[in-house]
Amino acid sequence: MIVTDKSNAGKSIVKEERISVFDIFKIGVGPSSSHTLGPWRAGQLFVELLKSATNLDKITSIKVNLFGSLAKTGKGHGTDLAVQLGLSGYDPVTMDTKQIDSIKNQISDNNKLIINGSNEIDFNPKTDIIFQMQKSLPFHPNALTFSATTDEDEEISETYYSVGGGFVIKEESQEEASPCVKLPFPVDHASDLLNWHQPTGMSISDLIYENEKVWRNEEEIRSELLNIWRVMKECIYAGCHNEGILSGGLNVKRRASSLSKKLLDGKEFSNHDEWINAIRSSGSGFKYTLDWLSCFALAVNEENASFSRVVTAPTNGSAGVIPAVLQYYLIFCSGTENDIIRFLLTASEIGCIFKKGATISAAMGGCQAEIGVSSAMAAAGLTEVSGGTVEQCLMAAEIAMEHHLGMTCDPVGGLVQIPCIERNTMGAIKAITASQLAMQSNPENAKVSLDNVVKTMWETALDMNFRYKETSEGGLAINIPISLSEC
Ligand code: SF4
Repeated sequence: MIVTDKSNAGKSIVKEERISVFDIFKIGVGPSSSHTLGPWRAGQLFVELLKSATNLDKITSIKVNLFGSLAKTGKGHGTDLAVQLGLSGYDPVTMDTKQIDSIKNQISDNNKLIINGSNEIDFNPKTDIIFQMQKSLPFHPNALTFSATTDEDEEISETYYSVGGGFVIKEESQEEASPCVKLPFPVDHASDLLNWHQPTGMSISDLIYENEKVWRNEEEIRSELLNIWRVMKECIYAGCHNEGILSGGLNVKRRASSLSKKLLDGKEFSNHDEWINAIRSSGSGFKYTLDWLSCFALAVNEENASFSRVVTAPTNGSAGVIPAVLQYYLIFCSGTENDIIRFLLTASEIGCIFKKGATISAAMGGCQAEIGVSSAMAAAGLTEVSGGTVEQCLMAAEIAMEHHLGMTCDPVGGLVQIPCIERNTMGAIKAITASQLAMQSNPENAKVSLDNVVKTMWETALDMNFRYKETSEGGLAINIPISLSEC
């Protein structure tokens, strides 16, 4: 049975909603988890629906309506391209991202789309994808409806909601629960983690590792988490070596690559390990370390803005914070494979708590839901691997979010570039500061609990003007001298 808890200022927590670490950390393609990855997944789900309803060769046309925030910032976030890729049968985890431009051009030049890579239909992206700029659906601001027509004039249609972090749900199943799974240590609130820790002495990562065993065996958990880290570190490396101007029209120059070169006196490296060793052996002062932390975060989000492969953590706009903090720890502190696993398990559970008690969707809660949550996740992960107690991990997450409360989402030109890329550097340094503060504090003296700040974040999300929720209709998006028409 699903029990909903409405005590959190109207936020329904689906008790027994079970979220795996691999739901929070998803390998995908930038620039946005809610506006790119989610709609891409929705396209794939719609193809599955078509396959179960009819033969794909009976489909003669498909139309896609984008509503709310998906319409308002969909161009800049590549929502239209993402649905075409999903309908064409490409998978964001495996596809060669270098092919994306040529596939996009093929569809628009020929006005043909090959559903699931097998059945060609007429499809004009300019007229068959409709941006409903004035219309929002009531359940969630990120909604999209697919409608297909068959050669017998039947219509098959479905509405999906992209609810943040790449999670997608269907109209008729507006609960996101996967309640049938029974976990040994179910967690809905931060207080649940304390309640499990106190009698068992287990750390957050120990508890979540036991929960994860419900879905996967130990070898799979380890290897899949290390694979998540592999993708994160490859993304850092790529971002620190790719140069040029980001696409989209804002003419934002990539900075990670030139910063990386500058910090290493222009030396060249042929592989990731050589480069990491050079970073480690070339300095250790505060400014040097801080420059690298920023460089790692910039690198990931410049890759993210380029439709490259990233790990959603917990969203794509905030994908740089966790890799930056973990890479910082591995280079400048210490770090083993076990630390990587413990860091990711701890961070993911903090993301789950925010997803359940508040939101990880900027269209619902502004940037506090993206950079704020990623910073809280990183702060807790760092605190655990640094030897902090469970109470200190939760305190670190609380501090990191407390100082992101109210942060608005106002991407210039609807692109995940300004302020998003730099904002990841801020989320990363706040995570380290929060972790240090917690490590130097007695959590018994803390006045604000993590659950207090989750509730506050949700209430702030409800109070926030819609202009600051991924619409590009307020804040920086309207106050710097670049008009949407230039993008
Ligand atoms: S401003 Fe923040 S929430 Fe909005 S798109 Fe950028 S990173 Fe995401």
